[in-house]
Amino acid sequence: MAGLLATRVLSERFEKVTLVERDALQDNPEPRKGTPQIQHPHVLLAKGAQIMAELFPGLFEELVAAGSTPAEMSDAAWFHSGYWLVRAKTGVIAYSQSRGLLDWKVRQRVLALPNVEVMDRCEAKGYLASPDNTRITGIRLHRKGEAETTLDGVDLVVDASGRGSQTPQWLEQLGYPRVPQTLIKTDVCYTSRIFHRPKNHQADWLMVAIYAEPPHGKRVGMIFPIEKDRWIVTLAGYLKEQAPTDDAGFVEYSRSLARPDVYHAIKDAEPAGPIVQHKIPGSQRRHYDQMSRFPEHLVVLGDSVCSLNPLYGQGMTSGALQVMLLDKCLRNQPAGSLTGLAQRFRKQVPSVLLLPWMMAMSQDMGHPEVEGARPPGFGFMSWYTKQIISLAARDEEVVRSFANVQHMLKSPATLFSPGMLWRILTARSPEAGASQSSS
Ligand SMILES: Cc1cc2nc3c(=O)[nH]c(=O)nc-3n(C[C@H](O)[C@H](O)[C@H](O)COP(=O)(O)OP(=O)(O)OC[C@H]3O[C@@H](n4cnc5c(N)ncnc54)[C@H](O)[C@@H]3O)c2cc1C
Repeated sequence: MAGLLATRVLSERFEKVTLVERDALQDNPEPRKGTPQIQHPHVLLAKGAQIMAELFPGLFEELVAAGSTPAEMSDAAWFHSGYWLVRAKTGVIAYSQSRGLLDWKVRQRVLALPNVEVMDRCEAKGYLASPDNTRITGIRLHRKGEAETTLDGVDLVVDASGRGSQTPQWLEQLGYPRVPQTLIKTDVCYTSRIFHRPKNHQADWLMVAIYAEPPHGKRVGMIFPIEKDRWIVTLAGYLKEQAPTDDAGFVEYSRSLARPDVYHAIKDAEPAGPIVQHKIPGSQRRHYDQMSRFPEHLVVLGDSVCSLNPLYGQGMTSGALQVMLLDKCLRNQPAGSLTGLAQRFRKQVPSVLLLPWMMAMSQDMGHPEVEGARPPGFGFMSWYTKQIISLAARDEEVVRSFANVQHMLKSPATLFSPGMLWRILTARSPEAGASQSSS
């Protein structure tokens, strides 16, 4: 997704953009080897949707026509930290569809751009550089069954090859130091299955999310509507907790979540596909901004730089924010020159990652088993967040603020406004789990 969005932005500023992809790109929404995660639910946060709608006018109308469901907080039964969040109208719209459908529609738009060329079934194998290695000039390429070739003499190389990006090793081969990395180890496991939505199903929600309750709860369950009147259901676990992959075990495990709503919904539902599993070691960050030396004419973005714990739904949006940063950096370059672009971009990436990284890390660190130094004030922040959630169980205004922050539309500072502080200080504790029930 980061590569597709970057291609769209680059196509406005360069005569020709070549998209290199290891897989064969098919004209359909089916999963492929290079993106196994797309078989699992993918929430597109409202900020990400806003960016995509700007880049591709009419995209979401097209998605809705293809079966995507627009939904907001009032459509979601969300059990968070021991409370059902109140179903408030927030105006924050998220679109629910399979990740395959979203990728396919975006890919169709990108491939239709007149100056975009695709080289699929083609694996990037390393960088080509100027004789003193200070500037990247191209990439080495390999197609199965063929001799290695090169794509040389290019103005800019963008690595959007995802979490498994080889840029750290390729830069080392050119004499650069190893990029510093951070891993917040949470050992998350997703186990997912698509179901036909039962014809007689009656509930007052379009989607359900039963979140783990730190410090002890480690199980998460979610149901999202996807095209063709189906649900994608995931049972996820933190810290090596994982759901079974057999039919009966999957359903039975859903009964063990903090609330039984997922179980009630799927126990008689007809499966529409196999049970699939994906393990994620945790949020991973490559700090290119901290390297003492970095070559010119190279940009690394998307999961290649920052791959977040997927449970918070921020990955595609964080990639989109980095692409918009690239767009801004390109706009600010002197005409006809790319000198300094790579340095300016990598130095500014932390500013766009600050919010998603902090949000993911603070929730992960709520589990005492997760290793790593807690930032100063962590205890207070955890307490404060708990107060916000408990208020969100009955105060629509709080839900509106919370949704805007969660969807990266507004700064977390809005949760510390004088009005919010007053609400928290004057609130009486509600009984946990006592708010509305979902089904
Ligand atoms: C289980 C799970 C659930 C998730 N849920 C959400 C969610 O709800 N919301 C959300 O926003 N995000 C979610 N994410 C995160 C999201 O999937 C990623 O953030 C996003 O896909 C990253 O996009 P990317 O373009 O950087 O990398 P990728 O999507 O990984 O794409 C990388 C591309 O590069 C290609 N490639 C790799 N190496 C090479 C090479 N050497 N040569 C040529 N091509 C290569 C691959 O084939 C692939 O097409 C989830 C992730 C997982 C694992």
